[in-house]
Amino acid sequence: MSGRPATTSATPKVEGAGPKPWGAGGALPELLIRAGDRPLFLAIQRGLALVLPLIMVGALAILVRDFPSLGAQQMLDAALGPAWRIRCGNLIDGSFGIASLALLCALSGTMATLHNQRHSGPFVSPIMAAVVVLSCFFVITAPAQAGSWSELFSLSHGLLVAMGVAALGSWIFLRLSQIQWLQLPFRTVGSDPVVRDVLTVMPAGMLTILCFGLLQWALTAVGVADLYASTRDWVGQPFTDAGSGLDTGLSYVGLSQILWFFGAHGPNLLFAVEEHVLIPAGLANAAALQAGGEPVFIITKSFVDAFARIGGSGSSLCLILAILLVSRDAGGRKLAVFALFPALFNVNEPLLFGIPLILNPSYLIPFLLTPVVQTLTAFAATALDLVPHTTTAMPWTTPVLISGFVATGSVAGLVMQLINVALGTLLYIPFARLSDRVREHRGKRVLNGLLRAAESSETGSGGRKCLDRPGEEGRLAKALADDLALALKAQDQLFLEYQPQIGAKGCCVHGVEALLRWRHPAYGRIPPPVTVAIAEDMGLIDRLGAFVLAEACARRAAWRGAVPDALILSVNVSPRQLLSPAFARTVLEVLGQTGLDPHLLELEITESTVLIPDALALDSLRRLRDTGVRIAIDDFGMGHASLRYLRELPIDTVKIDRSLTVGGPGGLNEHIVRSINELSRSLGITTIVEGVELDAQLAMFLALGCETFQGYLFSRPLGPDDCLSFIGTQRKNRRQAEYSQANDGPVMLSRENL
Ligand code: C2E
Ligand code: MG
Ligand code: MG
Repeated sequence: MSGRPATTSATPKVEGAGPKPWGAGGALPELLIRAGDRPLFLAIQRGLALVLPLIMVGALAILVRDFPSLGAQQMLDAALGPAWRIRCGNLIDGSFGIASLALLCALSGTMATLHNQRHSGPFVSPIMAAVVVLSCFFVITAPAQAGSWSELFSLSHGLLVAMGVAALGSWIFLRLSQIQWLQLPFRTVGSDPVVRDVLTVMPAGMLTILCFGLLQWALTAVGVADLYASTRDWVGQPFTDAGSGLDTGLSYVGLSQILWFFGAHGPNLLFAVEEHVLIPAGLANAAALQAGGEPVFIITKSFVDAFARIGGSGSSLCLILAILLVSRDAGGRKLAVFALFPALFNVNEPLLFGIPLILNPSYLIPFLLTPVVQTLTAFAATALDLVPHTTTAMPWTTPVLISGFVATGSVAGLVMQLINVALGTLLYIPFARLSDRVREHRGKRVLNGLLRAAESSETGSGGRKCLDRPGEEGRLAKALADDLALALKAQDQLFLEYQPQIGAKGCCVHGVEALLRWRHPAYGRIPPPVTVAIAEDMGLIDRLGAFVLAEACARRAAWRGAVPDALILSVNVSPRQLLSPAFARTVLEVLGQTGLDPHLLELEITESTVLIPDALALDSLRRLRDTGVRIAIDDFGMGHASLRYLRELPIDTVKIDRSLTVGGPGGLNEHIVRSINELSRSLGITTIVEGVELDAQLAMFLALGCETFQGYLFSRPLGPDDCLSFIGTQRKNRRQAEYSQANDGPVMLSRENL
């Protein structure tokens, strides 16, 4: 006798009916995300990105102006006249020259935006925050000679002060703006809302500026009149009597990296070391060589430039190579390609601001470590006479490999550089991977938020589910919306999977449900409800729906002969698609083009969101039904209009929602499922139980008289070829089962029988 009972074996755990979290956790990325999510870090990263246009222009202008080839410079002289240098200078002054000031505004504006998203209380205008902080900056940096101000606006001198003032100023201003008794009562109706917002927090702004006035007074009292000069003196202090040994080299390289990490131009702040130690050491080497002697100093300016600043501070060229070799982040790879050209000439600002490297915890370790390790290896190689001492000064923009050769006058210098590039790249690789994981984690978390929004029936002020979301979710939705429009054109990221539906009678595959998949190059798989909601928000749903329909019908038509003749193809239809007058025509056109029998197509309409009775939608469905197309109600039992549907629509199938399939025998869900099943049966409607994951669930629904099932217990959604072989295997098994049935009696549906 082969009437084997359904067995309970190691089956996947039933997840709750709520949205499935998209992706798993991980301790380190989670920690880094939490650090990166602090408003200050977030604001700094965004502020740095906001000034990127200036940085790119400045980097290119510097590259052209200081291009390390006399021939190229003479060519430009001949073609454009000597004025081209002035034009380049203008561009540099207008970009790098005010980058710190621009960052100050970007940073304070971003901090106010984040504050508004996270706190209730009065709205703080981001522009007002920038204006207040701008004032604070001038108050605190007010130098005795106003002429030196312009230096503080620049990337090379003012970045640290600008970041510090923006962070502190915004923090004070935003805190004060929360204090109720400091708010002026201007919230009356009628006045301009911008003016109202500004006036409300005006005392907070004034107090913030006054605080900086006090701070400046206090600093002057303790002898810190010029912040930049004082910082420079302070960090240069330990090097006052330094020699040109390994200890000086390591601490100079290490400290300048630390300073860069916090946004201060390390080499500029430590210029005293360059001036008093590194450059003289190089000159002494050159002089010794000229006098026929042996150069003695290993650590020189050329040594540091050639071996420990490959591609600029942090040996950024190595990071670019690491990103290009291992990163899965399409955006990061594009930036790396873009930054490669300037980095070949040691201009690394595009990376410092674009990745960004400044204050980025993911890259802290290799950014500090790589140049230090490179200093050690090159020092050891020189001390062991494997590489000659550096004797030639060269422009700092001399490209990698050439600089190694020029500085040492030997191919060994070039080889040393190659070794250091390889070493640096190896050091950066694990962190490029870590950064990918952090980015993907953050993306998945935001994506989960979007999934919740997509699955709820709520919309934002613009009537859109995802695009109206505030903060990161809204930003991600907008980015995805742009990408979806492109993906629909290229059609290489969008595809379908098919999930078999199993009939209890004879354990046959009753049908397959086509499910949309979007493999995004940066965020991986996007949950279908998010794709659909974004398409609805963008007005792209008709095109997306037509793509799904055409693809699925073509696939079912191609399977003719290889699958049971009556195998039904279910296609999900968004309620918005139904509202389009062209919907029915599109379906009929696709059926005509693919030659698919309309009786084999079932349209699944989600019960929980469709708006009925919409005359147009009902009319479309009735017309299609008249041609033979089947209609199913998806997620039945979730919405408030379940029973009304059965009356208003020509229904063939109801699909019992997954949330009703959890819970054991005797529970409320069991009663609801039994009622739906009995009602459907009396109306001649097929029921499909969705989300069956466990043998015990299957046994219970079989006992309730349910006859068709869909769920992970039988199969997950599969690619077309896998689905076809699943159906093929099942057909073979069915024939065997029929044979057994003839001999032993009826076959019970279970996973083993498939
Ligand atoms: P749905 O139509 O109810 O599809 C069933 C969903 O449940 C699928 O999720 C499927 O992978 C999942 N599922 C199936 N069996 C199990 C199970 O045993 N356990 C669990 N936990 N889940 C199971 P998926 O593919 O993520 O799709 C989610 C929803 O996205 C669909 O729900 C449907 O409403 C929508 N959707 C998918 N493709 C399309 C499409 O082409 N057009 C439209 N308009 N909506 C689509
Ligand atoms: Mg469905
Ligand atoms: Mg469903």
